[in-house]
Amino acid sequence: MRTPLIAGNWKLFKTLAEATALVDELAPLISAVDDVEVVVAPVFTAISAVAKAAEKTVIKVAAQDCYWEEEGAFTGEVSPKLLKDAGCSHVIIGHSERRQYFGETEETVNRKTKAALKAGLVVLLCVGETLAERESNATFSVIKTQVSGGLAGIPASDLAHVVIAYEPVWAIGTGKTASDAQAQEVHAFIRSLVAELYSSSEADALRILYGGSVKPENVKGLMSQADIDGALVGGASLKAESFAGIVRFK
Ligand code: PGA
Repeated sequence: MRTPLIAGNWKLFKTLAEATALVDELAPLISAVDDVEVVVAPVFTAISAVAKAAEKTVIKVAAQDCYWEEEGAFTGEVSPKLLKDAGCSHVIIGHSERRQYFGETEETVNRKTKAALKAGLVVLLCVGETLAERESNATFSVIKTQVSGGLAGIPASDLAHVVIAYEPVWAIGTGKTASDAQAQEVHAFIRSLVAELYSSSEADALRILYGGSVKPENVKGLMSQADIDGALVGGASLKAESFAGIVRFK
């Protein structure tokens, strides 16, 4: 059985004070939840403060990106090793906003994924098609390119530390969620692809999250789908009450 994972992507929001206050507010609301892994992803500058605030809670901390080199003359970058040092256990890689605005490619996603795994981080590898791609029936080919590109050269032994997040770009921050069936269709496709690339037992163990306008009101339907194992939540993760409502989907 796959343990559900609910992750909050705080994007470029929250000061140090706001980020730690959110953890303090969230922790008691979800303390009774068991069997759900909970992760939050603050901005780089808040990671260590959030990790400290989350120390005695079930909340784990992710970064929103990383670089692939461990150290060196790479001004402005942050390595997986330093993310671990700051208190991260997870890292989001290949988010559509990074692909769209910051020149992320299949190659950089793959290099970052390998480096993060080597440093001992769990990777939340994001994939998803744009509206134009969906409308031109390219969804499956885009997903196939992104999943196989992201996982290229990653051995089966590392796959237990990878979580895939399917986030249709047209559903991110738009209030438009993929229907339960639309999401399930792509999740099942991703699982079959991973079975082809690895094996069916690895594919069965892989967690696949859905992301894109997930809210307390729609999480239950999504989570009842056979191949949806959790959620990557943006907007609704910025308030303790709504994120807790998602974590308590059962
Ligand atoms: P959203 O963002 O929940 O605000 O749509 C999801 C994401 O970008 O991870």
